[in-house]
Amino acid sequence: MHIPAPRLLSLLLLPPLAAGMLAAGALTTRAADQEQERFTISSISLTPAQASSDASPESLPFARPDRMERYQAWAEANPDWTAAQTVLWVNMDRDRPFYTDPDTVEQPDSLTVLVNKYHLLSADYVPELESVGAGYGSGSLRPQAADAFRAMADAARADGISLRSVSAYRSYDRQESIYRRYLSQDSQSSVDTYSARPGSSEHQTGLALDINVASLKAHFEDTPAYAWLVEHCAEFGFVLRYPQGKESITGYQFEPWHYRYVGREIAQVCMDQNLTLEEYFALQPTQSEPDQKTAAPTAEQPAPPKPDPDLPLI
Ligand SMILES: [Zn+2]
Repeated sequence: MHIPAPRLLSLLLLPPLAAGMLAAGALTTRAADQEQERFTISSISLTPAQASSDASPESLPFARPDRMERYQAWAEANPDWTAAQTVLWVNMDRDRPFYTDPDTVEQPDSLTVLVNKYHLLSADYVPELESVGAGYGSGSLRPQAADAFRAMADAARADGISLRSVSAYRSYDRQESIYRRYLSQDSQSSVDTYSARPGSSEHQTGLALDINVASLKAHFEDTPAYAWLVEHCAEFGFVLRYPQGKESITGYQFEPWHYRYVGREIAQVCMDQNLTLEEYFALQPTQSEPDQKTAAPTAEQPAPPKPDPDLPLI
């Protein structure tokens, strides 16, 4: 199997000023000249030696001891990848096809929960929810996410931008019916690029919402609202969850309308450094999974809101 090494890491491993000037191949030479310089990725940093093609997985701070065999297998099949690229890729489980042996998220109430094609929510998980409220569009979110969205929409309004929720929380059953309906119209390999299988939708967390539109045809990416969101969403704790150019990591087409509340600290890192949540967590040095101690389980589960009238994506 041969898969081209992701460009993202060769850029990430370089200081911002050099990123545009140096190709990945130049990194080794540069590293030899500046042995003491350290490159920072999020909360971890790599020495030039660690970033080089001569590095071993064991030398990397975000390598996981229980994945050494997987690193080795990937490296053997893809000899042009650096160890850092391989470790990042395998930490995101991308050495396996999407939906391979997915696990069930153990702490779904965490505000930083990672839900994707490898980490699923159980069918009966329903978060604490509140309506986004009159004037903010339709649907419900976790209270922290609802507060953050209202604050973001208020700030946007002050700048002449209208942000409205068109789809927020969706239940497991609702997602199942959406996914099945798409399957009746399209091949599964195609549907999987724009609609989540039940349990793998971030909308079930109550922390994600679609803003203003939920369709590629709308070209939301060309609107002032999108430009405003990219610039400001992190200030309110949201990330653009399925960015352009990260399709091989997220498994989804670019979704300019889909935002995920994750808290300001992580959101700022992801948006500043163009990291998906998958990359962010895969690069953490000590924890193999996201910090899931943020929120306590809710005692009472309110009734889920009425299903959305349309068929939104993801
Ligand atoms: Zn969405």
